[in-house]
Amino acid sequence: CGITARVGTEDSSESLVATLENLEYRGYDSAGIAVKNGTGLKIQKREGQVAALRAAVAENRLEGDLGIGHTRWSTHGEPSDANAHPHVDCSGRVAIVHNGIIENHTELRRALEARGHEFRSDTDTEVVPHLVEERLDAGDDPETAFRTAITELEGSFALAMIHEDVDSVFATRTGSPLVLGVSDDANYLASDVPAFLEYTNRVVYLEDGDVAVLTADDYRITDVDGFDVSRPVETVDWAA
Ligand code: GLU
Repeated sequence: CGITARVGTEDSSESLVATLENLEYRGYDSAGIAVKNGTGLKIQKREGQVAALRAAVAENRLEGDLGIGHTRWSTHGEPSDANAHPHVDCSGRVAIVHNGIIENHTELRRALEARGHEFRSDTDTEVVPHLVEERLDAGDDPETAFRTAITELEGSFALAMIHEDVDSVFATRTGSPLVLGVSDDANYLASDVPAFLEYTNRVVYLEDGDVAVLTADDYRITDVDGFDVSRPVETVDWAA
């Protein structure tokens, strides 16, 4: 239903939950976040309202300068804690959130399972972290692994990924909306501008096929072939 991401220089978990609350108007059945901290990726996800996620995060604090968030409107797999996003690979190195539908997930999942991947959810989404994992195991760096994995996907998707060893968020869109939010101390991503409007009104609308790599103080946008593309930074009127 909606994805968000934040890369900053201080804890992102509180503002990630806030970005999800700002997306509540879109409707959802579950919510979750993943953050990267010194000891790897930390994930909290819950069926139900963002308030349930907020309570879980308050009880079991996650801290990390960068992370991804999701509100889910389930299309494949019932609403449940296990089917809530983020989803991870077998090794837990990467976490991914997804808005949309991976149409060829059945074939991809069958092939991945035949190669030994164990799935933990009934979602179409979970094929993505496993595809990335195979590329990482083949020696790709996280960005190349992400870029290669998404070439196998059919359908409509906005995706954001974090990897336990890098201080970047990787994202792409095809047929589902995705907007970048640029601010002086952090960069944001979301399915819709209201998610991060309380933090910044400088936005960059991504186009189909774009791949964005965000760090705390920079971002880079490339096309499917890896060539840099330049997208205008627009200022959203707060009153709009
Ligand atoms: N198809 C995915 C799922 O069912 C994502 C749905 C969404 O966009 O929220 O988990």
